[in-house]
Amino acid sequence: MEAFFRAQQPIDLHLHSNVSDGSDSPAEVVRAAHAAGVRTMALTDHDSTNGWDEARAECERLGMTFIGGMEMSTVSDTGGGIHLLAYLIDPDDAELIAAREAVIARRVPRLQEMTLRLSEDYEISWDDVLEQSSGTSIGRPHLASAMVKRGHIETVSDFFTLVTRDTKYYIPTPAISFREAIGLIRGAGGVPITAHPTGRTKPGHMMPREALLDVLNLGLAGFELGHRENAKNPEGLERIREYCEEFDLIVTGSSDYHGSRKENRPGEFTTTPEMLMRIIDEATGAEPTYA
Ligand code: AMP
Ligand code: FE
Ligand code: FE
Ligand code: ZN
Repeated sequence: MEAFFRAQQPIDLHLHSNVSDGSDSPAEVVRAAHAAGVRTMALTDHDSTNGWDEARAECERLGMTFIGGMEMSTVSDTGGGIHLLAYLIDPDDAELIAAREAVIARRVPRLQEMTLRLSEDYEISWDDVLEQSSGTSIGRPHLASAMVKRGHIETVSDFFTLVTRDTKYYIPTPAISFREAIGLIRGAGGVPITAHPTGRTKPGHMMPREALLDVLNLGLAGFELGHRENAKNPEGLERIREYCEEFDLIVTGSSDYHGSRKENRPGEFTTTPEMLMRIIDEATGAEPTYA
């Protein structure tokens, strides 16, 4: 019960820094969260825990509770992309490090190739893209910012309208198997929660019961039901909400803050202390840092 009483509210468990595709440094992310009133936050950069120390120190300075996290790009057996949040993993777990480094290594040539394809039609270079990335994990938002800076588009969002999956510019994100990622996170003592579960699904798409039972068996802990992108498929979200009640799963709500690269603001969705307590109780890889 200790965690319940010590973690302060509001609780936002999904924020990105410039270690991946956010625009702010880890300390700046903490300050933005604090200014928005958030008092417990998780840093969840894509494929990296390199921002944890800086964010933790700033949380301690500002009297906030810090939760270490990470977001992984995974792919289901049926080929769908699923983002998986990993809470309180051991950041030094060898298997998890090997898996994420393999992904990061593939991210670079993928983005170089996308840049090259775009450069056939737009003035854009790999140096423009590198200039936008100061961290560990590079992705489309960096290329998007480079396109904005070159004046080809107005916002990062515009990039995702221009470079859709059916264009010649698009190359899929390097990802590992969803089932495998759940095992890796549990192996590192972490708690796996599916990020924005209906954010990328088609309206009306329903998660089949067999698929749910399979991933629960593997150790999936719950779903991020509170996330602005979930609104894209309200029926699918309702189905997952019912699953969460039926199987008593962990349910979170978070902002997915990316600084100036997304409109999402810290604290726009939050997680209850009861649910955070369950995450902390299940985790064996890392401890929260209380101020
Ligand atoms: P990548 O890692 O290259 O697959 O890029 C995925 C990242 O792009 C996500 O983590 C988001 O930060 C961002 N993203 C995806 N879709 C959109 C969108 N429609 N508008 C703005 N950012 C997006
Ligand atoms: Fe992102
Ligand atoms: Fe995501
Ligand atoms: Zn995210």
